[in-house]
Amino acid sequence: MHRVYNFSAGPAVLPEEVLKEAAEEMLDYRGTGMSVMEMSHRSKMYQQIIDEAEADFRELLNIPENYKVMWMQGGGNLQFAMVPMNLMKNRVADYIVTGQWGKKAFQEGKLYGNAVKIASSEDKTFTYIPDCSDLPIDEDADYVYICENNTIYGTKFWELPNTKGKPLVSDVSSCFLSEPMDVTKYAYVWGGVQKNIGPAGCAIGIINEDFLTDDVLPGTPTMMRFKTYTENGSMYNTPPCYTIYICGKVFKWLKAMGGLKEMQRRNVEKAAILYDFLDQSQMFHGTVVKKDRSLMNVPFVTGNPELDAKFIAEAKAAGLENLKGHRIVGGMRASIYNAMPKAGVQALVDFMEKFEKENK
Ligand SMILES: *Cc1c(COP(=O)(O)O)cnc(C)c1O
Repeated sequence: MHRVYNFSAGPAVLPEEVLKEAAEEMLDYRGTGMSVMEMSHRSKMYQQIIDEAEADFRELLNIPENYKVMWMQGGGNLQFAMVPMNLMKNRVADYIVTGQWGKKAFQEGKLYGNAVKIASSEDKTFTYIPDCSDLPIDEDADYVYICENNTIYGTKFWELPNTKGKPLVSDVSSCFLSEPMDVTKYAYVWGGVQKNIGPAGCAIGIINEDFLTDDVLPGTPTMMRFKTYTENGSMYNTPPCYTIYICGKVFKWLKAMGGLKEMQRRNVEKAAILYDFLDQSQMFHGTVVKKDRSLMNVPFVTGNPELDAKFIAEAKAAGLENLKGHRIVGGMRASIYNAMPKAGVQALVDFMEKFEKENK
């Protein structure tokens, strides 16, 4: 068997233990004589899988009773529309744009009403998080929207914006379950699972039940109403059964490790290995403002596109895969999600050190 260190931004590395367990259960899930892929979502066995997944998820994030959990299809991009359709009652919403995903959400929001860009870091190619302590929040704003960890640019909100009492909506796709999170600070927080939790095919939303209503924008399809999910246990239609099953295994893996505080400790430790190297290197440089650095996505450059390309090719040959930066940014990006072991980050830094010496 051949496994590489996979630094992909998503779909991304999953815990090896989880993949092995899924492989063992592939042909015969716990004596049922079938794979979870082949199982009716209305079966008792599957109900147990999704119920346990939700219970473990709630336990990990310490989600209070008045917040509902939804498993939805359509990934991140469908959320960009579902958010305004369900929450933009006054047809006004404020967006803080700190990267490509926030920008897309903002543009989609404009299709449904008056989406207002109240802050942005686009002036410096999204290399920082703007000061959000005193923004011109609209009096009629239905919500304030952020993308909390910017997967492409490698920045993170380490402090949530002051929304002046307006509901906060956040996309946590690329930092989901990387550390503890106080869900009560949000009206709605969601993430696509294919970055830090499971296989592609699903987004998990956590919503304060006060924001669940039938008063959605006219024309909102049944499958895009939050209540369709909360009232049907996310099974109004066939859910992405296998994706949910794997997510459930990842939750158990996180719990066995000691939960999100321990995960956070490991993530801080891993990111420090890479950032400490970048900060002393003469060749490689991080691209974002230090205080806004993400623990999950670490973009870096040499400043020479040819050297970048050489590095990416040689790293790949050395078993360090998917280090190419996003196509709109260039350079390199190492995504070091929960399932990336410390040894993988160390292997990357060792390789960078060697490359730097050889290419002086
Ligand atoms: C990947 C990503 C998205 C888009 O997800 P899709 O499932 O591809 O639509 C949205 N937001 C963030 C923060 C992401 O990292």
